[in-house]
Amino acid sequence: MKENIYDFLVVGSGAAGLYFSILAADHGKVLLITKNSLRESNTFYAQGGIAAVDRESDSFEEHIRDTMTAGDELCNPKAVGMIVNEGPEIIHDLIRRGVKFTKDSKKGEYSLHREGGHSESRVFHFKDITGKELIRALTKNVKENKNITILENTMCVDLLTEHQKTDPPPAGLHGVTCYGVYAYEIKRNRISKILSKSTVLATGGSGQVYLHTSNPAVATGDGLAMAYRAGATISNLEFYQFHPTTLYTEKEKESSFLISEAVRGFGAELKTKDGKKFMHKYHPLKSLAPRDIVARAIDTEMKKRGDDFVYLDVSNFPANKIISSFPNIYHRCLEEGIDITKQMIPVVPAAHYQCGGIETDLHGKTDVKGLYAIGEVAQNGVHGANRLASNSLLDALVFAKASSVSVQKYISKNMINFTGIKEWEYYHTERPLEKVVVSYLRNTIKRLVSEFVGIVRSDERLKMAQNMIDLIAWQARDYYMQTKLSKETIELRNIADVAALMVRFASFRKESRGLHYNIDHPHKDNEHWQKNTRIRSTGRRSKSEITR
Ligand SMILES: Cc1cc2nc3c(=O)[nH]c(=O)nc-3n(C[C@H](O)[C@H](O)[C@H](O)COP(=O)(O)OP(=O)(O)OC[C@H]3O[C@@H](n4cnc5c(N)ncnc54)[C@H](O)[C@@H]3O)c2cc1C
Repeated sequence: MKENIYDFLVVGSGAAGLYFSILAADHGKVLLITKNSLRESNTFYAQGGIAAVDRESDSFEEHIRDTMTAGDELCNPKAVGMIVNEGPEIIHDLIRRGVKFTKDSKKGEYSLHREGGHSESRVFHFKDITGKELIRALTKNVKENKNITILENTMCVDLLTEHQKTDPPPAGLHGVTCYGVYAYEIKRNRISKILSKSTVLATGGSGQVYLHTSNPAVATGDGLAMAYRAGATISNLEFYQFHPTTLYTEKEKESSFLISEAVRGFGAELKTKDGKKFMHKYHPLKSLAPRDIVARAIDTEMKKRGDDFVYLDVSNFPANKIISSFPNIYHRCLEEGIDITKQMIPVVPAAHYQCGGIETDLHGKTDVKGLYAIGEVAQNGVHGANRLASNSLLDALVFAKASSVSVQKYISKNMINFTGIKEWEYYHTERPLEKVVVSYLRNTIKRLVSEFVGIVRSDERLKMAQNMIDLIAWQARDYYMQTKLSKETIELRNIADVAALMVRFASFRKESRGLHYNIDHPHKDNEHWQKNTRIRSTGRRSKSEITR
C-alpha cells in the first residue's frame, strides 16, 4: 500500500501551529496533530493580549527598545526588529481572519493596554480572554480549510530520523534529517508512523516541569525533548520566566490561575499579608517593574516572612470598572470565595514561559534538516534572557508566517527519500503501568526543579540538583522503556529529559542575567557571558558548548 506523505506536518495547535497551518495550506497538504483537543494549549489561556505598535505616540524603536531592555542584552536585534515591524500587519491579518479585539466604546479605536516593561499602551486584547478568542477564530479557519487534516488526541512520541532508516545512521548525529514522527493515538492506544516532507514543532512550553505553573497539563516539554533526542541544538534553557501573580489556593492544582499583568497595569498594588506595600524597595516602577524583578521581590518577601503568598490589591478602584475590565478574573476569583472588588487577591509566582528552546534561525529552521520549530518551543533570539509581556503571542505568529514561506521553499527544492523508514519497534513490554510509580517520579522531578532551579539559584543547590536529576531521570527513562506505552510514560520521559537539561543549563551560566539569578554570581558579566548557552546531543552522550 502506498504510504501517505504530507507536505507539512504540524505538531501542536496553539497560536503558532494553527496560524502556520492556515498559511501553509495555500501551498500543500497539511496534517495537524495535537495531543488533546484542538483548543487545549497555553494560547487558549492567554489573558493579556498581543503587543503591536498602533498609536501615533508609539514607535517601532520604542517597542524594540523595551524588548531589548527586558532581554538583558541577550536578544538578537534582527529577531526583535522582525517581530516588532511585522506586528501591525499580523494584527490586521488576524482581524481579517475573524479575530476580535476590544474597542474603546467612546473613541471607536482599539483599546490598548499597557503592561509591565512597556513604555506605551500597545497590547491588543479581547476583554481578558484574548487567547480564547484567538483560538476560537483560528480553529474555525483551520476546520473550514480542506487542505488541513486534523488529528486530535494524538501525541507525537519521537521524530523520525536516520535512526529509523534501514540504512546505517550517519556517524554522530549531525547532518541528520527529519522524515516525520511516530505518533500515539491516545484513545485507540496505538502508534503509527507519519511521513512528511517537513515537520514543524509548535508544541509550546514546559511549565509542567515545575510544581506551580500557569501552563495547562499539556505543557510537558514534549517537542523540546524530542528535538533534543533527535540531535537538534537546544539553547538558553536557564531562562524560565515566572509569572509573579497566580492565584494562591490552599489545594494544589495541576495549573495555577493567572492574575494578568494587566491588573497591575490597571493600578493594582502588591502588599504583604499585613497589608504593607513593598515594591518601592525593589524597583522605581514599583508594582509595574519587569516580571523577573517582581517575581524575585515576592519570593524574597515570602521567604523573609515565612508566608505562602502575598496580596494583590485592586479593591480601591470602582467595582464596575474592575468587573468590565477583568470579567474572567473576577468570576474565577469569586469561585474561590474572593470578591476582588472588595478583597485583596492572594497570589504566588508560578512557572510561566520558557525563554530558551530549540535553536532556530529567523525562519524557524533548526539544525536538523526538514525540522522547524516555532512559538514557545523555539529559541529564535527574540526574548534573550527575559520575555517582555505580550511579546510571545506576537513571536509565535510572526515566526509561523516567516517559517511558512521558508518551509515551502525547502520542500519545493529538496527531493526527500522516504524509503526504508521502519515501523515503530515495539520494544516496550506489556507490563502495565503503575500510577504510583509514575506520579512519584514525576512529582520528585517537579519538586527538585522547583526547589533547586527556581527563581533564586545557588552553586550548591545546582550541584545537588545535578547529582540527583541524573539518577531520577535515568529511572524515569528506564520505566518508560520497561512499561506498556502510555501518555503518562511518554510525558514522564519528556519531563525527565527537559528537567535534566534545565539543571545543566542553569549550572553552566556563572553570572546573573535576566531570569537566571544565582546568589553566588549575583552580577552580570558581559565579558564572559553575553552569549547563548547551547547543548546538542551527539547520540551517545550530549555535548555542551557555549557560543556567541
Ligand atoms: C495563563 C497564560 C497566560 C498567558 N498570557 C499571555 C499573553 O497575554 N500574551 C502573550 O503574548 N503570551 C501569553 N502567554 C504565553 C503564550 O500564551 C504562549 O507563549 C503561546 O501561547 C505559545 O503558543 P504556542 O503555539 O507556541 O504553544 P501552545 O499554545 O502552548 O500550543 C502547544 C500545542 O502543542 C500541543 N502539544 C504539546 N505536546 C504535544 C505532543 N507531544 N504531540 C502533539 N501535540 C502536542 C499542545 O496540546 C498544544 O496544542 C500566556 C501563557 C499562559 C500559560
